[in-house]
Amino acid sequence: MTSHNSFRASVERMFGNAAALMELAPGLEEKIRVCNSTYTVRFGVRLRGQIHTFTGYRSVHSEHMEPVKGGIRYSMDVNQDEVEALAALMTYKCALVEVPFGGSKGGLRIDPRAWNEDELERITRRFTYELSRRNLISPSQNVPAPDMGTGEREMAWMADAYKRLHPDDINAKACVTGKPRHAGGIDGRVEATGRGVQYALREFFRHPDVVGQAGLAGTLAGKRVIVQGLGNVGYHAAQFLSAEDGALVTCVIERDGVITNPQGINIDALRGHIHATGGVKGFAGGDHAENGLTALEGECDILIPAALESVIHAGNAERIKCKLIIEAANGPVTADADEILRRRGIVIIPDMYANAGGVTVSYFEWVKNLSQISLGRLERRHEEARARMLIEELERISADTGTNFELARGFKDAFLHGADELDLVRSGLDDTMRESFKKMKEVWINNPKVEDLRTAAYLVAIRRISNVYNSLGL
Ligand code: NAD
Repeated sequence: MTSHNSFRASVERMFGNAAALMELAPGLEEKIRVCNSTYTVRFGVRLRGQIHTFTGYRSVHSEHMEPVKGGIRYSMDVNQDEVEALAALMTYKCALVEVPFGGSKGGLRIDPRAWNEDELERITRRFTYELSRRNLISPSQNVPAPDMGTGEREMAWMADAYKRLHPDDINAKACVTGKPRHAGGIDGRVEATGRGVQYALREFFRHPDVVGQAGLAGTLAGKRVIVQGLGNVGYHAAQFLSAEDGALVTCVIERDGVITNPQGINIDALRGHIHATGGVKGFAGGDHAENGLTALEGECDILIPAALESVIHAGNAERIKCKLIIEAANGPVTADADEILRRRGIVIIPDMYANAGGVTVSYFEWVKNLSQISLGRLERRHEEARARMLIEELERISADTGTNFELARGFKDAFLHGADELDLVRSGLDDTMRESFKKMKEVWINNPKVEDLRTAAYLVAIRRISNVYNSLGL
């Protein structure tokens, strides 16, 4: 599917809007825009007494930096247009948040719920073999990660399959990110994309001028939030925003319907219910309705689409009632809808920034794998010893001078805690989200031709990519 309205066409139109505001070297706009290659593989796996043929893709959008990076999606909707659009977004995302990778994406046309764990493992290992034969999985060239329908489990299978094929590669673990910790993963990767959404919103609310542009005021506390998709990204974003920032998640939209509760939904309880029953139906902590599509149009301050692409389109954009959309999913707003929402004054925090937490922490994981040591292992106790020295010295002075001051218990414990891996990962992620937002905002506010954060994000990303191309011998 590469029609005028396709996902890829939508991404290319948004890219084109930004590129039109720049003076790029002749031909460079096209070179940056096009997808370098897409590999399609059809492979057979013998399961349940017969051979089943699966179709998989790995698209490489840009190799201006290597390795290229991007998730692998398991879904029956996977197609070439989709992986190419997602690979392009990865290129721009990595450039925007200064993660030194090119853009890639992969997918397997499969309904993961239709197969049991052993079957999924065999299918995943076979897919890895096909990718490896073409260097489409490799620590130095192409590093997949989880996406819709995949998670730590699939990444561990892929890492193991790769290691078996390349037993002499000391960096083999770095062939894929999003692995469980025991298989070389990093603390904080599972939560990373949702955590990044939270950090993005916190940063947004630190800038009263942009908060005002959205017709909002104050902080995140008490803001009414609608979330579509309570999977990895949606769950973590909803959980952190409600438990740590006081936001009220008033509506959750899932495959099998909608849960609403104006007092705020208990996200952990709802997630538990979904795990236990397979859906939101029957959840006691809110009202259930079947139709999820119109729920996107509900009254709220912040809308978080965290499931699929193209859910806000020309057909419903006029009816969307939120003030701010943060695109936790990739491509949830089509180019047509983007124009309608902009005209209506609804502010959009764009996907390439909003969900960049995943690739940012994947980058930390890759660095950890290459350096073969966990973050903070060398410094942590040293840091704690220095903190202890300072406290003991203060206590000695206090005793010697008879001032008898006492540090608050909470302060002392926090001060004596050397940063562990999770602390460092969150700190690096927070820094990335804050700095990237400031860059986008600077471009948005200072250039009257830049009408929104998305165009600003593209401008920052394209500028950086073009700088790399200018130093490449093409
Ligand atoms: P996931 O598979 O963990 O979760 C997706 C959720 O959406 C599931 O709970 C599913 O039931 C729900 N869903 C599916 N169809 C739906 C529908 N029609 N209506 C409502 N809900 C529906 O996937 P994920 O990893 O959370 O990814 C979600 C989005 O975030 C995707 O667009 C993905 O590309 C993007 N993303 C993910 C990551 C990551 O680290 N996992 C990183 C960046 C971007």
